[in-house]
Amino acid sequence: MRCTLLGTADVTSVPPPFRTLADADATARRRRSGVLIETETTTLLIDVPPEFHEGLREVGVRTVDAILVTHWHRDHIGGINDLALAAQILDFALYLTPTAQDRFAREMPSLTDAFTIQDLMHGEPITVGDLEITPIPVAHGRPESDTLGFRLERETETMVYAPDFANWCPDMKGGGAYTDADLAILEATPVVAPELLSTDNPPKNPVAKAAASRTVLTHVNEYVVEKSTAELEAIVTEAGYELGEDFASYTVAS
Ligand SMILES: [Zn+2]
Repeated sequence: MRCTLLGTADVTSVPPPFRTLADADATARRRRSGVLIETETTTLLIDVPPEFHEGLREVGVRTVDAILVTHWHRDHIGGINDLALAAQILDFALYLTPTAQDRFAREMPSLTDAFTIQDLMHGEPITVGDLEITPIPVAHGRPESDTLGFRLERETETMVYAPDFANWCPDMKGGGAYTDADLAILEATPVVAPELLSTDNPPKNPVAKAAASRTVLTHVNEYVVEKSTAELEAIVTEAGYELGEDFASYTVAS
């Protein structure tokens, strides 16, 4: 299984509007979060950020078997209008939580008919080609935006993707499926700026709890956390992780 980061930023991207990379103290642009998962027979996109088609063009992907959405926040679904156009020429399923389906129907009623929509339920695995995928509920945005990470498995290879969360939810159905992956791509804020987590009870490093063999951090914004790319890299490396960058690609090996 191969995983390519299509975007590694938070909601505003880097640089944010009306600012430059130099203003942000960043070495490279970061697009909104999305990831491409590929095996020899299966292509999967997780999230539809506003720049998703730019990312897919960059990595040369022309078709997709399924698209999964972590949650209904603009940085993760802002490209859905463009995706509706692609749905006219490609045959893929769009997987959404019931909460996301409700919001989609309410906020964009003219677009829902363009898609074949499938349910994503906490802890209930789905199969896409040779991938088995378990939705993992995480602490972020609930109840307005039920938010998921995913555990992806192919034979003995395992990865976890959770790009936007403050903590795990081990007491919810499927909420404990985040541990011991070969590769974990996880939200960086608990490591680089835990003071920014919007929670009354800040967790003790949920990234460490995942205990993956290899951990890459994403959903980063140099401008917001007021740290340069080099400073972030130093913090992340010191903690034993890697800092993600757009179009970095990882082979998941067990
Ligand atoms: Zn969000």
